[in-house]
Amino acid sequence: MQDVLLCRNIHKTYNEGSTATPVLHDVSLSIKAGEHVAILGSSGSGKSTLLHILGGLDQPSSGEVEFKGHKLHTLSPNALAKLRNDEMGFIYQFHHLLGEFSALENVAMPLRIRGLSAKAAQEKAQVLLNEVGLSHRQAHLPSAMSGGERQRVAIARALVTEPSVVLADEPTGNLDDSTGEQIYQLLTSLSEKKKTAFVVVTHDIALASKMDRVLKIKDGQLVSNQPAQEPV
Ligand code: ADP
Ligand code: MG
Repeated sequence: MQDVLLCRNIHKTYNEGSTATPVLHDVSLSIKAGEHVAILGSSGSGKSTLLHILGGLDQPSSGEVEFKGHKLHTLSPNALAKLRNDEMGFIYQFHHLLGEFSALENVAMPLRIRGLSAKAAQEKAQVLLNEVGLSHRQAHLPSAMSGGERQRVAIARALVTEPSVVLADEPTGNLDDSTGEQIYQLLTSLSEKKKTAFVVVTHDIALASKMDRVLKIKDGQLVSNQPAQEPV
């Protein structure tokens, strides 16, 4: 199957004044259409950094990211923003909802940016809010919702555009087990319909084990999480 998202030889070092923090070292990865990949790694290992680079939210120090044949570093800011709106859903580790907008308006926002009417965007947003179990909270501002509710709104916002890739940074981190399972079901039903690929950063081993592949970031490199030797 075709690669939808790939990165080659990514290095990332954060430089703050005279302090250099090397985080990623020669990371290459390719994700096929409809493929589900989990990325594990201890806190501070660079999981969010890698996801942000894959989603065009941050730039690598060297190496390149390619999305459906488009090299992200060659795109203008507007072209990159359009590609992200058309094709990618990003679920942030810290929900990043817009505080002055209701849950419904937050979920409708990517469709409004795409040019849909308020009515059409809100109708679609209502469907997604219903799927994450939050119809009754659609008029609430993020400040009037619990952490788990905000995260579910953020998930609905990432899925509302039916993207071809969803990049999710610990999407079930603040959710109880049953909601985590619902979110997983929602992601997979979307995937079946639309061949959506997922890259999910998670600490949730149960969630990771449902993916097609489990990778781990260790010492700045991406390694397979399979045991080195098959048990005899
Ligand atoms: P994870 O998501 O695996 O917990 P991160 O990708 O957030 O890890 O961070 C990896 C490392 O990079 C950490 O040591 C973190 O302190 C550092 N880091 C992340 N963002 C920045 C930044 N903007 N400037 C400097 N260092 C950063
Ligand atoms: Mg992180």
